[in-house]
Amino acid sequence: MPEPAPGLAMNAGPMTQTLDQIPVNALKGVGATLAEKLAKIGLFSLQDLLLHLPLRYLDRTRITPIGALQPNLNAVIEAEVRACDIVLGKRRSLVCRVQDGTGTLTLRFYHFNNAQKQRLVAGARLRVFGETRRGAAGLEMYHPEYDFLAGASPLPLEQTLTPIYPATEGLTQPRLRSLAQQALTWLDKHPLRELLPETVRRRLNQCTLADALRYLHQPPVGANVQQLLEGEHPYQQRLAFEELLAHHLSLLLLRRETQADGAPRLRLTPALEHGFLKQLGFQLTRAQQRVVAEIAEDLAKPLPMLRLVQGDVGSGKTVVAALAALAAVASGKQAAVMAPTEILAEQHRLNFGKWLEPLGIQVGWLTGRLKSGERRYQLEMIAAGTAQVVVGTHALFQDAVAFADLGLVIIDEQHRFGVHQRLSLSEKGQVDGALAGVVRPHQLIMTATPIPRTLAMSAYADLDCSVIDELPPGRTPVTTVVISDNRREEVIERVRLACEQGRQAYWVCTLIEESEALEAQAAQATADSLAQSLPQLRIGLVHGRLKLAEKESVMAGFKAGELDLLVATTVIEVGVDVANASLMIIENPERLGLAQLHQLRGRVGRGSAASHCVLLYGSPLSNNSRERLRVMRESSDGFYIAEQDLLLRGPGEVLGTRQTGDMQFKIADLQRDSHLLPDVKNAALLLMSEHPQVSQLIVQRWLGQNQRYLQV
Ligand code: ADP
Ligand code: MG
Repeated sequence: MPEPAPGLAMNAGPMTQTLDQIPVNALKGVGATLAEKLAKIGLFSLQDLLLHLPLRYLDRTRITPIGALQPNLNAVIEAEVRACDIVLGKRRSLVCRVQDGTGTLTLRFYHFNNAQKQRLVAGARLRVFGETRRGAAGLEMYHPEYDFLAGASPLPLEQTLTPIYPATEGLTQPRLRSLAQQALTWLDKHPLRELLPETVRRRLNQCTLADALRYLHQPPVGANVQQLLEGEHPYQQRLAFEELLAHHLSLLLLRRETQADGAPRLRLTPALEHGFLKQLGFQLTRAQQRVVAEIAEDLAKPLPMLRLVQGDVGSGKTVVAALAALAAVASGKQAAVMAPTEILAEQHRLNFGKWLEPLGIQVGWLTGRLKSGERRYQLEMIAAGTAQVVVGTHALFQDAVAFADLGLVIIDEQHRFGVHQRLSLSEKGQVDGALAGVVRPHQLIMTATPIPRTLAMSAYADLDCSVIDELPPGRTPVTTVVISDNRREEVIERVRLACEQGRQAYWVCTLIEESEALEAQAAQATADSLAQSLPQLRIGLVHGRLKLAEKESVMAGFKAGELDLLVATTVIEVGVDVANASLMIIENPERLGLAQLHQLRGRVGRGSAASHCVLLYGSPLSNNSRERLRVMRESSDGFYIAEQDLLLRGPGEVLGTRQTGDMQFKIADLQRDSHLLPDVKNAALLLMSEHPQVSQLIVQRWLGQNQRYLQV
């Protein structure tokens, strides 16, 4: 019988415990305090410790001649001290010159004591470990570690690469290293269950999880450090695959869990549909019709819909959403429509009001900025079911909001919401029927940020996807030019000309810092200076600091043609729809992501006039920025732009909160490892259908405490 784990209760049964069942305090030297620190970074079991992988490695296995050193490199050298002096510069420092026959190097210490200085005498021999940097007189190391070499007996070198772990307050590298090493010795006696099915593993490469972990915590001398640093080592790829799989599975499990509940069947009546379409004033595009049909089919089923609608800016998602909401109303249910900003929510309120109220449908309204009386009134309407469609912001999530009978949740601009926020809204509508079981609302998610296919596959595995891949007719493409800030005068002149010809223009000021106040200030200054240069124009200003009513009146003025030029912060990104505006200037576009620029630019080119977008950059531009602005100039295809954004900025930025909030990877990198995604997807489907138990174990292993998908 295997010996029981030390420090654990004896009632664990005759089976050998697996490492996920053994808590960190089974290790030597781990008491309550340390266990608490480890818990802070999500490390509870020995399995967690083993999956806490090094970020990078130092090579202390060999000695580098000084002459072969490069800047910004970690290296071990052996050398003799030539001189050691206290230098009084901006900061007092101890400067020690060493040489090894191939070159000389400066060691610099800002914190030092007398004893240290006295031992570093000329002729002393040292082994030094540190990172090189370029100094005024050749290479230097700041605060290197060093040992004295005494006599003939050489100091032993490290036998493996030295791992550097992600750490937090109070957890030093030596401590983390020793914990990992101890955990590895447990790995010999206690299995770490191999969860990938044989068929999947054979396709990847033969190595087991245990092999990969042993190697990655202690790469042997001669391991390919470069490959390890880049995360391209086969062992890393083996783990990245399993981690990506875990994320994918968590979404599939979430989907299955959601769909285990029922949903109300929602059907549009022909009369209502006809009435709606008749008063629109335009025909739906073929793409809109197709997506409307896909949604209708989902809504008619007694299973909660989980559908993402992707459609470029201006492709007409709102009307598609309105038709879905209409189906809810036709079936006696409520629909909630949530937008990420006040302005976008207002735009929806106006559109939904315009389209639905003539049909006798009541549209409710809820944002964080309502006065208390109005708020109470709206909450009552929502609770009573009088408000059949409710438009709002995050305020719709609040506990005080109780829907009478919510059948459909529509979320616009999904990339700004995390999966958990989405869920919390869907749980609002959850009702326990005595006979029917749990019923939850359908979910429709709309995004104007096209997501590259590979990413979508992974980040939205829980959603079905519809694409509106056609713009309404009569749009003229926007011509984009990239101009340096020192030609500002010409650009201002261009604004004057456009407005003189009866067109309208936007001037967008981008965020300087993450501060609404500063941004508002900058926009004000720009508006003032433009007013001086263009006294003949009627200029309006909107920014996030204005009162809702002020903002509304400025926007209304612009829409009515009472203003020629609208100076704005990026608050106009979404929701503004003025067909006569045909020129947009974006200042410092290099500060924004491509997706956001694309969104902004989508505000012009909505009418039949030829439209222009001027990207007025602050020079000098970095190469990456130059490249990104080139993409904007050359393309107006949202999907292409998103792919390029992914290449140039990485998935974190492209996916926004969803990535940062929900998809934190230990080892995988969506971009680097995107070639794994098709196999990940197949493996996930296989596991879900043939080994559901294992699916849950994989999720638990990698997402552990961070996930909430496992209420079996
Ligand atoms: P987005 O997909 O960016 O949310 P909107 O729903 O705001 O786009 O639609 C952009 C504009 O196009 C709106 O003024 C809308 O009324 C109009 N629109 C939508 N569908 C059509 C269509 N089929 N034909 C003509 N105009 C349309
Ligand atoms: Mg929209």
